[in-house]
Amino acid sequence: MKLCKKCGVEKSEDDFYWQFGKPRTYCKSCFKAAWHEYRTANKEKYYIHNNIGKQKYRSLYPERIYAQRALSYAIRSGLINKPNQCEQCGTECKPQGHHPDYAKPRNVVFLCPLCYKHVHSNYQTETILMGKCDDEKA
Ligand SMILES: [Zn+2]
Ligand SMILES: [Zn+2]
Repeated sequence: MKLCKKCGVEKSEDDFYWQFGKPRTYCKSCFKAAWHEYRTANKEKYYIHNNIGKQKYRSLYPERIYAQRALSYAIRSGLINKPNQCEQCGTECKPQGHHPDYAKPRNVVFLCPLCYKHVHSNYQTETILMGKCDDEKA
């Protein structure tokens, strides 16, 4: 049993979402309510981020979207083996595919979040526009 810090009700641990091996401080229903409230309050931001941002990104950089798609397809179908470490600094992680040249979708370097950020730091606006692109999750 665990006490929810929001509603003060003691609930089974199954009623909590888990994070890093521990139940969160809010129970599921409080967490959902808080999340909903947050989203409603930030609706405009979310809208811009999720829709306009993505659309803009897609229309501005169609070749990048294509390259990312081709990459996730290649990984899924086993044409490219995704390493479990960064190809630049060797840190073990779930590296992200980076395209040095978007015209060559299979020419890919796998980078840890830090190196990836470093490589992309020249394109500040691009990163903001891109947000978290679904196509990169592969
Ligand atoms: Zn609660
Ligand atoms: Zn790295």
